[in-house]
Amino acid sequence: MNQGFRVFDAHAHLGVARHSGRVMTADRMLEHMDAHGIDRSLVMPFPLVDDYRWTHNLIGDAVKAHPDRFAGAACLNPFIAEPEFRDEVQRCAEVLGFRALKFQPQYQPVNPLARSSSFLFETGLENKLALICHTGAGAPFALPSLFILPARQYPKLPIVLAHSGGSIYALEALVAAKVCPNIWLELSSLMPHHMGDILAAIPAERLMIGSDLPESSATEIGKIIDLKIPKDSEESQTQYSLEHGSPPVRWQVIRARPEIAMMLVALSSLSFLFSA
Ligand SMILES: [Zn+2]
Repeated sequence: MNQGFRVFDAHAHLGVARHSGRVMTADRMLEHMDAHGIDRSLVMPFPLVDDYRWTHNLIGDAVKAHPDRFAGAACLNPFIAEPEFRDEVQRCAEVLGFRALKFQPQYQPVNPLARSSSFLFETGLENKLALICHTGAGAPFALPSLFILPARQYPKLPIVLAHSGGSIYALEALVAAKVCPNIWLELSSLMPHHMGDILAAIPAERLMIGSDLPESSATEIGKIIDLKIPKDSEESQTQYSLEHGSPPVRWQVIRARPEIAMMLVALSSLSFLFSA
């Protein structure tokens, strides 16, 4: 809990990063979560790793040891042979119990619109995983608008735009989420002043918090908790469910103003990423 709110972090990494040398273990992540009042984290590999199977197993072990704290997401090189890619994603879903597949076009330059990229969206759908797509740095393939057509082609696939376009493309992420009901926005790296535009346009149920890196947690959570809350807020409940096998998740929502609804739902995050 952080200031009375349950905090679900929809973007965190475990393992060893080939490109930056960062190392994060489950134990250190738990210490970090406790220090910042983060109840649960969706943990995924860094975008470049030496051994994705080893990293997925590391995350799988963390999820198994702490199912109440961690949910897992797969991330692997999309340029390996397609059957190998599909088999590993299936293993992550069926054996390790992961909830999402991450696509990182900044480090994995795959054109989301190319016909040859359909395996990405198909493996997500076939394995009942949400597809988390990094957006922002790494344009053009990381442009939020490039996920509009796939979202329409695969309307049952939840697509999460990580970083919501990374500040510079925040409004483009807003448009993508506005025109596609199966696009969610993860808010890490947006500046606080971007929240107003997003809040005015996108339902609270499709927004979520992400830290990405541990040193950003306080800022990412704080920028939402510190949004101005009117004193006359009125509490109510809302229900939301996805066709993802999980039961409807009940969220406390303060309805007084839309930004407050966003805040609490974002802090609670989504049933397809975290078990109810
Ligand atoms: Zn990240």
